[in-house]
Amino acid sequence: MWDSLIIGSGPAGLGAAIYGKRAGLSVLVAEKEYMGTGQIAESGQVDNYLGLVGKSGYDLGEIFLEDAKNLGVEFYEGEAVAFEKKENGWSVSFENGEVIEAKTVIYGAGAKHRPLGLPEEADYAGKGISYCAICDGAFYKKKVTAVIGGGDVAVEDAIFLAGLCEKVYLIHRRDSLRAAKSLQEKLFTLPNVELVWNAAVEEITGEAFVTGVQLLDTQTKEERFVAADGIFIAVGIQPVSESFKSLVKTDEAGYICAGEDCCTSVPGIFAVGDVRTKKLRQIVTAVADGANAVNSVQEYFQTR
Ligand code: NAP
Repeated sequence: MWDSLIIGSGPAGLGAAIYGKRAGLSVLVAEKEYMGTGQIAESGQVDNYLGLVGKSGYDLGEIFLEDAKNLGVEFYEGEAVAFEKKENGWSVSFENGEVIEAKTVIYGAGAKHRPLGLPEEADYAGKGISYCAICDGAFYKKKVTAVIGGGDVAVEDAIFLAGLCEKVYLIHRRDSLRAAKSLQEKLFTLPNVELVWNAAVEEITGEAFVTGVQLLDTQTKEERFVAADGIFIAVGIQPVSESFKSLVKTDEAGYICAGEDCCTSVPGIFAVGDVRTKKLRQIVTAVADGANAVNSVQEYFQTR
C-alpha cells in the first residue's frame, strides 16, 4: 500500500511527488492516456515561473518530469475512475480494471477546455475548430485564424498564431481583456492581429471545414462575419472532478473545495492545482499546492 497515490502529473502532482519523495513517503503518480505534464504543455512560452523564465510550457514540463524521475518517483499510466474507502486508506480503480491501494490520495487531475456551447462546435472539431494553438497552429501556416476569448490562454494563443498565420482575429465579448497586462502589451504590438471587441459568437459557419464566424456586436447590435480557416476556442477551463464529485465537497462549478492546506472535506484526500477552489490558477500556485499537500499528508499521518 502506497503512502500517497498522486492522480495527475501536472505541476501540482509532480510538485507533490517531489516533496513526498523527499519526506520519505512512498508515492506513485498516476496519469491517464500518457505520461504528460498537464495543461502547461499547451503554453507556448512561460514568462512568469521564477528561475526558468522564457521556456516553452512543454520544455518546462519536461524539466519537472525529469526532476521527479531523478528523485526516483514512480509512475503509472491509467485513468482513475472510482475511489473506495478501506480501513487503512483508499482503493482506487482504474479504467483498465487494475486497483491500486494507498493510505492517502492527492488529487491533481487539473482542468480541461470549456466548450463555447454552440451546437455546431462538435461537428467542426478537427475540421477547423481547435482548443489548442500549440498543438494545431501549424495546420494554419499563412492562413487566417480567429481566437475566441479574452483570458491568458486566448491572448497567448493569438500571440503564438500571429507568428504563423497571415492574420489573426482575437474575438472577445467585452471591451477589455482579462489576460495579464504583459501579454496584452505584447499582443497590441503585433501588426497582423485584429481585435474584435464586444463580439458575441452567434454561429461558426462551415461546409466540410470551418469558413468563419458570425458575430453580433453587443453594443451596436450590428452583425459581422469574420472569414477564417481556423477557430481557436479559449473561453476558460472546467475542472476534471467527475469521478470525485460524489466523494468530496465541490463548488457549483465542480472545483474541489480545499484551502491552501489542500485538505478536502474527506480526511486522507487532498486536492491540488487547478482542480481545487482557489483564486489564482498558475504554475507557481500549482507547484506550491503539491508542497502544501504533502505537508498536510504528514500532519494527517501524525494525528492517526
Ligand atoms: P479565463 O481566465 O477564465 O478566461 C476565459 C475568457 O473567455 C474570458 O475572457 C471570458 O470572458 C471568455 N469567455 C468565457 N465564456 C465565454 C463565452 N461563452 N463566450 C465568449 N467568451 C467567453 O480562462 P483561460 O484563459 O483559459 O485561463 C485559465 C486559467 O489558467 C486562468 O486562471 C489563467 O490565469 C491561467 N493561465 C495562466 C497563464 C499564465 O500565467 N501565463 C497562462 C494560461 C492560463 P470575460 O473576460 O468576459 O469573462
